[in-house]
Amino acid sequence: MLLPSPLQKLINAFERLPGIGPKSASRLAFFMLRAEASIPDDLAEALAGLKDKVAFCQECFNITTAGRQLCEICASPERDASLLCVVEEALDVLALERTDGYAGKYHVLHGVLSPIEGVGPEDLKIQPLLERVARGGVKEIILATNPSMEGDTTALYLQGQLGAYPVRLTRLARGLPVGGDLEYADQNTLLRALAGRQEMD
Ligand SMILES: [Zn+2]
Repeated sequence: MLLPSPLQKLINAFERLPGIGPKSASRLAFFMLRAEASIPDDLAEALAGLKDKVAFCQECFNITTAGRQLCEICASPERDASLLCVVEEALDVLALERTDGYAGKYHVLHGVLSPIEGVGPEDLKIQPLLERVARGGVKEIILATNPSMEGDTTALYLQGQLGAYPVRLTRLARGLPVGGDLEYADQNTLLRALAGRQEMD
């Protein structure tokens, strides 16, 4: 069946989103078609200019408001610059901030190493991390990638890369659900994982 092109275009756009297959894409598109106008209108408004209004911090690659060089955390003099927490995604920063138990700074990798998906070190914000550490002042780096196979592989790779610098390397304590995402862990579990972090050997 040939669909009107605006509808087909919407289905194609949804299909390009992570975790959305052709079936879900069609379902979402038809939902938008039938929904009251405010739903597609609000979505369109939220999407329009998203890339112009939001930017990435030039220091830690967390999200920030466009036009600002640094995110709020990097710009804050209250945060401990000698402690860095390396996470996969900006959502992990949010999860750790919600615990109210971390006073250091962050570095967002924007993914994990994944040979299967063709993600190599050059695809992540690893080089800027090494440059940051080379500038000095960092005493401890918490490798807080997710407790998954890719997360562990990435932490091991970073351990190798960071071994040349005089910094303490730690990993979040076990207790986070294996294969789970930091962003879904509850605050107490995250706090315990932070407090019980262990030296990497
Ligand atoms: Zn930042």
